[in-house]
Amino acid sequence: MRGRFAPTPSGLLHLGNAGTALLAWLQIRSRGGQIVMRMEDLDLPRCKPEFAERALADMRWLGLDWDEGPDVGGPYVPYEQSRRGELYDAALDKLAREGHLYRCYCSRADLMSLGNAPHGLHSEGPAYPGTCRRLTEQEREAREAVKPPSWRFAMPEHGVEFVDGIAGPMAFAAGAGGDFVVKRADGIVGYQLAVVVDDAAMGITEVLRGWDLLDSTPRQLMLAEALGVEPPRYAHAPLMRGPDGNRLAKRHGDIAVSSLRESGLKPEAVVGLLGWLYGLLDRPEAVSAKELLPLFDLGRIPQESVTLPEDWLERLER
Ligand code: GLU
Repeated sequence: MRGRFAPTPSGLLHLGNAGTALLAWLQIRSRGGQIVMRMEDLDLPRCKPEFAERALADMRWLGLDWDEGPDVGGPYVPYEQSRRGELYDAALDKLAREGHLYRCYCSRADLMSLGNAPHGLHSEGPAYPGTCRRLTEQEREAREAVKPPSWRFAMPEHGVEFVDGIAGPMAFAAGAGGDFVVKRADGIVGYQLAVVVDDAAMGITEVLRGWDLLDSTPRQLMLAEALGVEPPRYAHAPLMRGPDGNRLAKRHGDIAVSSLRESGLKPEAVVGLLGWLYGLLDRPEAVSAKELLPLFDLGRIPQESVTLPEDWLERLER
C-alpha cells in the first residue's frame, strides 16, 4: 500500500487540510504502508518555498511522517512537481500522438461567457462546450497565427464508474465536466495531468484527499486510461465547515495549523479535535496521531461535511 500527501504550497495549512492529511496518514499507517510527500508547486507564481517548508513543519508537528519526499529523498526524486517537467512533457507527447489532445484558442473572456451555461465541475468552472474541438484545419491555422493555444484533453464518449472508499459508488456521465486543459498557453502543466503522471510514476495505490476533488476523479481516471497506467483507489474525505456552515476560511478565526501551534496548543489537542470531527472519537480528547491508528476505519468517516462547533477552541484539551 502506498499513499501520498500532495499539498499545494500557496498558503498555510489549515484545520481542514490537516484533517485530510491525518486521515490519509491513518489509512496507510494503520495497514503498514508507505507514504510519499509530494509538493504540488506547479503554479510557481502562486506557490512559495516558505509555505512548502511550513507545510512540512506543521505536518511533522501534528505527528505525521512520510517515507519519501523533498526533505528525505527516495527512489522517485524529485518530489517537487516544479522539477518533474520532463515526465509531464513525455506524457503530453504520448497523448498528443495518440489523438487525445487538441489545441484550444478560447480566451478567458470566451470562457467567462460560458458562465451562465449549465455548470459542470465546480472545481474548474463551467464545462467546456468543445468549441475548439470542432475547428477545421483552416480555422485552426488562422487562430494559431494570433494566439498561442492551450491544450485540452478530449474526454472519451463513455461514462465512468468507480467505488469511492468514503463516498461509495460513483457514476459520472460521458464527458463529465467537459474537455479540460492539460497544458496552459503559458506552458504551465495542468493539475489533472501532473497528478495522474505522478501517482502512476510513484506507485501510489491509495489516494485519500478532500471532497472538492471528487469530481476531478473521472478526469483522472480517463487520463490514466489514455496513458495506459493503473489508477489508484480513491477516497474523498468530507470538507470542513466553519460554525456558520460555510467552507472553512480565514474569517472563521485562526484556523492555520501554524497559528494554533504558535498559540501554545499541543498537537494532541488538535489531533483529538480532528479525530472527533471525523468520527473516530466520541469527544475531542487529546490524543496523538499514533493513538488513533487502532480506531481508524474508512467506514467511520462521515459522508457529509463536518462542521466546527462555535466553541471549538474552548473545547480543546490543553
Ligand atoms: N495539490 C492538491 C491540493 O492541494 C491535491 C491534489 C490531490 O490530492 O490529488 O488541493
